[in-house]
Amino acid sequence: MTDAEIQEQYGDLLAQGRLKEIMEQMREAGQIEEGNTLPDNIRVIFRNALNAIWNQPSSDGKPANEPAPVSARLRKRQEELRDGLQCKVDLYNRSEGHLDEADGIDCPMCRNKGLIEEVRNDRRFYSIMVECECMKLRRSWKALQKRQPVGIRQKLSLDSFAVSEDWQVRIRQRAERYVQDSSGWLYIGGAPGCGKTHICSAICREFLRQNLRVRYMDWPKEVILFKAKVLEDEHDSRIQELTEWDVLYIDDFLGAEGETDPDGEPVDEDVKVAREVIEACSRSGKRVVISSGWLLDELRGLDKDMGDRICERGRGYTLQVAREKGRDYRALSEEQEEELC
Ligand SMILES: [Zn+2]
Repeated sequence: MTDAEIQEQYGDLLAQGRLKEIMEQMREAGQIEEGNTLPDNIRVIFRNALNAIWNQPSSDGKPANEPAPVSARLRKRQEELRDGLQCKVDLYNRSEGHLDEADGIDCPMCRNKGLIEEVRNDRRFYSIMVECECMKLRRSWKALQKRQPVGIRQKLSLDSFAVSEDWQVRIRQRAERYVQDSSGWLYIGGAPGCGKTHICSAICREFLRQNLRVRYMDWPKEVILFKAKVLEDEHDSRIQELTEWDVLYIDDFLGAEGETDPDGEPVDEDVKVAREVIEACSRSGKRVVISSGWLLDELRGLDKDMGDRICERGRGYTLQVAREKGRDYRALSEEQEEELC
């Protein structure tokens, strides 16, 4: 039979995927022989018919994941493929990597490989590699270490935070207490170079060790996405995503490296995004660790409600390093911090 003849005679049945019926009718009519394999052209037509059904959009415009009932066998085959794929993926995800040997960051999610394999379903099952969230923390730490002379490059930990000054001892003690605590936020504000990123990264390292999922947010880079007009429709889901982790670490919050107005203050748009992020995180009840170049009263000057919210959530863990001449820093005393909050 030619393709055109098949289409003419069996077009309706093909569109419904009723291949078995077509074959029975073909046998009865002597168009194909009993027991023999199907001619190639018929096989191609059958395969195309099934593909067409599989790819048919459903009424809501999405591709139909539920094919016609007759393709149950096809679906079963797909499920088998998926299960096989999942086994392979699980095997990879359970294997151990060695990234922690270089930076001291022990990530239970990727087991220190930096990659997680996931099974996706887009009309067919396949697997892809996605970068683990810990890689951002690793890169941030690596960048920080690059600024150090080779001889004193270290692995990330709370212990590797220098404590030659009293204020440094107090910051480390407070960070150690914070990681033992079961809730609350931590805010560390103040001059660049006083170890804010180190202490916050070390806190996140401890959280990872506690099996918590940590999201690293590089504020100056990411805030651009939140403000982009072309990404406006993704804005709410972007904010929402930040609240879906156990811990959110915002590095360089409202950072000086971001956009600033002529007075050196963040532009209103940045402050608006900051307020939205802080409010959403506050509602979610998740933990937030913030490092920022701003002291809390300065933050209040930018947006009082936002500053108050951080104070309220970060009670007991609001660390500030005042700017002094030269490269000397001092932590504000607890009484001063209480006053601020
Ligand atoms: Zn990881």
